[in-house]
Amino acid sequence: MLNVVIFGAPGSGKGTQSELIIKAYGLDHISTGDVLRAEIKGQTELGNIAEGYISKGQLVPDELIIDMLAKVLDSKKTSEGVIFDGFPRTIPQAKALKVMLNERGTDVSVMLNLEVAEEELIQRLLKRGEISGRSDDNLETIKSRLAVYHSQTAPLATYYMEEGKHSAIKGMGTVEDIFTRVQEAINAIK
Ligand code: AMP
Repeated sequence: MLNVVIFGAPGSGKGTQSELIIKAYGLDHISTGDVLRAEIKGQTELGNIAEGYISKGQLVPDELIIDMLAKVLDSKKTSEGVIFDGFPRTIPQAKALKVMLNERGTDVSVMLNLEVAEEELIQRLLKRGEISGRSDDNLETIKSRLAVYHSQTAPLATYYMEEGKHSAIKGMGTVEDIFTRVQEAINAIK
């Protein structure tokens, strides 16, 4: 199985590159952000709780996310592999993912770390906010999401380096150029 963690700050292009990876490698896509937005739309209990965190640019608590991820993973039992987009975002989530995958006889194959300059991230997110209307793509929330990324999520780069799974990808340039780098990184481990 090919299990890819697509990693990077908000606005680094995780969703865009995920779509291309899915097409090229036939992987299942799990985006915790998309699952949470669907829960909010459906006004479920989890959605109502998550909305408060998302609107402030904070992370939804680990226990809720890990439970949610386990359920989604179970619904994808027959897959060739999964691309994890927006998960893990904390060290406890990364450890939980390892346990969940090991229990299913597999593991993370590679973590692709999309590296993009901060100023470009802000510009991309503001632009996305105008098009998608995502309520958390406004300047105030963007700034807290980036702060949360630096304090809670960025340390995962070291975690995956220690696991020997980290692959740095220059996330600037055209979508096609970045995807070429992504493919090189995936093909190197296949
Ligand atoms: P995303 O679409 O990945 O940018 O996620 C949007 C928001 O959903 C984030 O700012 C968090 O509030 C929440 N979220 C998504 N994935 C996670 C996660 N793995 N852990 C905690 N919160 C998450």
